Amino acid sequence: TDLAKIRNFSIVAHIDHGKSTLADRLIQETGTVQDRDMKEQLLDAMDIERERGITIKANTVRIDYVADDGEAYVLNLIDTPGHVDFAYEVSRSMQAVEGSLLVVDSTQGVEAQTLANVYQAIEADHEIVPVLNKIDLPASDCDRVAEQIEDVIGIDASDAIHVSAKTGVGIHETLEAIVNRLPAPKGDRDAPLKAMLVDSWYDAYLGVIVLVRIVDGVLKKGDRIRMMSTNAVYPVERIGVFRPAMQVIDELGPGEIGFLTASIKQVRDTRVGDTITHEKKGCEKPLPGFKPAQPVVFCGLFPVDNAEFEDLRTAIEKLSLNDASFSSEMETSAALGFGFRCGFLGLLHLEVIRDRLEREYGIELITTAPSVVYHVHMRDGEVRELHNPADMPDLTHVDHIEEPRIKATILVPDEYLGDVLKLCQDRRGIQLDLTYAGSRAMVVYDLPLNEVVFDFYDRLKSVTKGYASFDYQMIGYREDHLVKMQILVNEEPVDALSVMVHRDRAETRGRAMVEKLKELIPRHMFKIPIQAAVGGRVVARETLSAMRKDVTAKCYGGDATRKRKLLDKQKAGKKKMRQFGKVEIPQQAFISALKMD
Ligand code: GDP
Ligand code: MG
Repeated sequence: TDLAKIRNFSIVAHIDHGKSTLADRLIQETGTVQDRDMKEQLLDAMDIERERGITIKANTVRIDYVADDGEAYVLNLIDTPGHVDFAYEVSRSMQAVEGSLLVVDSTQGVEAQTLANVYQAIEADHEIVPVLNKIDLPASDCDRVAEQIEDVIGIDASDAIHVSAKTGVGIHETLEAIVNRLPAPKGDRDAPLKAMLVDSWYDAYLGVIVLVRIVDGVLKKGDRIRMMSTNAVYPVERIGVFRPAMQVIDELGPGEIGFLTASIKQVRDTRVGDTITHEKKGCEKPLPGFKPAQPVVFCGLFPVDNAEFEDLRTAIEKLSLNDASFSSEMETSAALGFGFRCGFLGLLHLEVIRDRLEREYGIELITTAPSVVYHVHMRDGEVRELHNPADMPDLTHVDHIEEPRIKATILVPDEYLGDVLKLCQDRRGIQLDLTYAGSRAMVVYDLPLNEVVFDFYDRLKSVTKGYASFDYQMIGYREDHLVKMQILVNEEPVDALSVMVHRDRAETRGRAMVEKLKELIPRHMFKIPIQAAVGGRVVARETLSAMRKDVTAKCYGGDATRKRKLLDKQKAGKKKMRQFGKVEIPQQAFISALKMD
């Protein structure tokens, strides 16, 4: 295709502002898919994504469009993941296109995710076309939102397009703006092949499918290609584009976006952001900015039923095939038996994987407290990465500990600002900025990731009645007074409940945890002390009193069916329990005990 007739773009938006609906409309309007084949939200493939309304895998679609100028154009839309956990993937997708549609819900306005994504688009030098969506709704206020875009983001919104992705108003104008306002890609057909690996995933029939953007040169079937970060060589078996169904074509030239398959066995062998070139006469320098994905949150996954360990292993291997950023290694816990220590890009990523293991593979899991990666500086100068609080080395050998910090951006209506500041302060935050955009405040905090991974987002939603939006990026490691806190149940340490905490917060956290556990652990025939300890020192304790002899005594009179039911219920509950010494702890306690209210 002639470079001048190509337009590559992405859509950036806060969740629910209408990105997927708009993409569907663009596809439908151009007749890319016949109406009868049009499933709602074509671009969101997986169930979980659909349920949660998030798009995780970047998807792409090639659209043919004859513009009002009579010329035929090829429009390539890359759908980027919308969640903070996948910021790096987003940034790579942005590098693969020249422009963005900035979709803002005209009944809502700019949100934290809008900001985070649009900044990435600006960083990638995109031409940006603002699109004000949902103008069919009575609450739509385009003037206010356009002004906000100018104030907060600092881009011209005077020629924003007014759209209803629902009714189709403004879709034609959007297509014309893509052609007329976004730049055509640049590239040299005669230069050595230089292509960016934008995304990859595993397909049961075709093996690994690699999404590429050709920068220079031409990619053809049968070419031998080389991944520049690993030097691995593969023969290309198939080249094609998505419409959005796969269509095999002969070649991809500069400026084009499409896929290749090359009997690559594992997604792990393809790294997002890597440069692909020819084995012979390849390009000299790779594209800038490549970095391998690094898991930032770790937790243990153990089968509730030990007999399911092998099933869990198989399931984890299968999921790893399709997810290069998910890591796992075997772990044994005195309390929980055999399981896996797994690494994720963030909390959402963790939840998605855990859900899939439980739902698609039917394995009931105990998830231990998520932990960030600490840098433990030993006295002898060695620096250890700590993925699991249970592995904390003996303190006499430790010089100091560093923890990861994030820069969090929160947008919130005025009236909730006080609560948000308090929440951030309680989580050891350092305020970096506080500005206003209309009746909303934008707060920027430097926070320990450790304080955010567990339930920060839930708390933020609840103190602001769902009105706050939140986004973050990693900013690096910093030293602090961190200690390992153990939980002892009936005098025995439960390794799966160990957490790293700030020294000054150990007592508060410990108190909260033992109080929670007292509620969560059922009574036994004997008294059970529950303690939180740092080093050898107990910082909080509760005692669970012994149960009265007859559990069914509290049922009125001698109703036999009631008694039966109670006993059945106890039996069912048993399966979800874990034995620690003489004490049974319900599975749900491992997560609930760590929530901070
Ligand atoms: P995404 O999270 O940005 O992909 O947003 P979706 O495309 O999933 O849209 C979120 C919700 O807004 C869905 O319920 C859509 O049906 C609805 N929606 C999207 N565009 C419009 C619009 O123009 N008007 C109205 N009334 N609803 C819309
Ligand atoms: Mg969507």
